[in-house]
Amino acid sequence: MRDIFFKKKMWRRHELKPRYDVVIIGGGAHGLATAYYLAKNHGITNVCVLEKSYIGAGGSGRNTTIIRSNYRTPEGAEFYRDSVKLYEHLAQDLDFNLMFSQHGHLTLAHSDRGMVVSAERAEVNQLLGIDSRVVGRDEVMEICPQIHLDGAFPVYGALYHPPGGVIRHDAVVWGYARGADRGGAEIHQGIEVTGIDVSNGRATGVQTSRGPVAAGTVIACTAGWSTQLAAMAGVKLPIWTTILQACVTEPVKPFLDVIIVSGQLHIYISQTDRGEFLMGSGVEPYPTFSFTSTFGFIEELSKHMLDLFPQLASTRILRQWTGLCDMTPDFSPVMGLTEVDGFVVDCGWGTYGFKATPIVGTTLAELVATGTTPRLIEPFKLERFYTDTLVSEAAAASVTH
Ligand SMILES: Cc1cc2nc3c(=O)[nH]c(=O)nc-3n(C[C@H](O)[C@H](O)[C@H](O)COP(=O)(O)OP(=O)(O)OC[C@H]3O[C@@H](n4cnc5c(N)ncnc54)[C@H](O)[C@@H]3O)c2cc1C
Repeated sequence: MRDIFFKKKMWRRHELKPRYDVVIIGGGAHGLATAYYLAKNHGITNVCVLEKSYIGAGGSGRNTTIIRSNYRTPEGAEFYRDSVKLYEHLAQDLDFNLMFSQHGHLTLAHSDRGMVVSAERAEVNQLLGIDSRVVGRDEVMEICPQIHLDGAFPVYGALYHPPGGVIRHDAVVWGYARGADRGGAEIHQGIEVTGIDVSNGRATGVQTSRGPVAAGTVIACTAGWSTQLAAMAGVKLPIWTTILQACVTEPVKPFLDVIIVSGQLHIYISQTDRGEFLMGSGVEPYPTFSFTSTFGFIEELSKHMLDLFPQLASTRILRQWTGLCDMTPDFSPVMGLTEVDGFVVDCGWGTYGFKATPIVGTTLAELVATGTTPRLIEPFKLERFYTDTLVSEAAAASVTH
């Protein structure tokens, strides 16, 4: 009876050990994926994930689940392209239904300049084998007949990215957690890291709410909390934290089967399987660690949403929420080694990190296993802020998650 009970569990409970080869701080999708690929790809299993709350409590359980790879820079587009490829087979890999639906992604252009930027992105994408192209008003109407193109900011055309889609975020978190557990990693919820031990320039372990834990390598996958964690190791990050807000309407009959994004209107919209309209905007312009939602967000968002979908005028907002976002100056992540040996960071994920989960896990696991930075994440090193080699994704990442 006891055996059957444990076999059904998604992941097991463990006593915290005094030492692990790898301690991963943060039980979001990134931390769990890294634990999963450490075992799967490199046979490294003496690993623990320390999560101060419950797994998926951060951005991984709060995001609006958009997966895409139509970024602006070759470095960014290539990185996210490989992530989408991994997502396409992830349900089989994890043997878990992730409800991935690649129903297409339209980034609207409301000016000549907007069309030029779309064309530039399409060219970068196509050179890297990413399905992405500029479409005119007629084709926007064919793809999404319900949209209103002649509102306060008329639509000129769009960047169309057919492989863009949505996935069930909780399922990604749970699937990776189960996979990491089966691979041998330990998942510890309700344990907060309160300090990082550094001796002679090397991270040797962490202090936690349950006592000290020694580690060969410490990886911080803590997104919105990353500046706090890095400061514990004496590492300064060029990151500020704020909130991103989102909301859903009451469910209505399904009529939108593509994701609509408008950078100019500061809005993105999709319709969930349950019929709710899921909507969001850009980050709030002030630094904060407070999860408080605002009425101003709903007011502004509704105004612009009704510009595109006036037929939703009498639909009610059901709920709204926020999540922390760790913003970098160039809208690209910070991944890899730091000046403290054995202390690896994975942060700067802002509003766009969920789609990167599989490639983050794969590349971080390779970095830890081999001690060499994989080519794909080389451009995202912390040093880029000292060598003036930023990877500016502002045009493709500021609103379009
Ligand atoms: C409203 C919203 C919508 C978004 N939409 C999208 C989208 O459509 N597509 C997309 O790609 N991205 C989106 N994002 C961004 C995305 O959610 C994040 O970039 C991504 O989830 C980061 O994952 P993570 O695993 O790195 O961090 P998280 O999921 O935030 O996990 C970090 C974990 O670290 C834990 N932690 C922090 N401090 C400590 C400590 N001291 N000790 C132990 N544990 C600690 C936290 O509790 C948390 O669980 C959105 C974000 C928000 C808020």
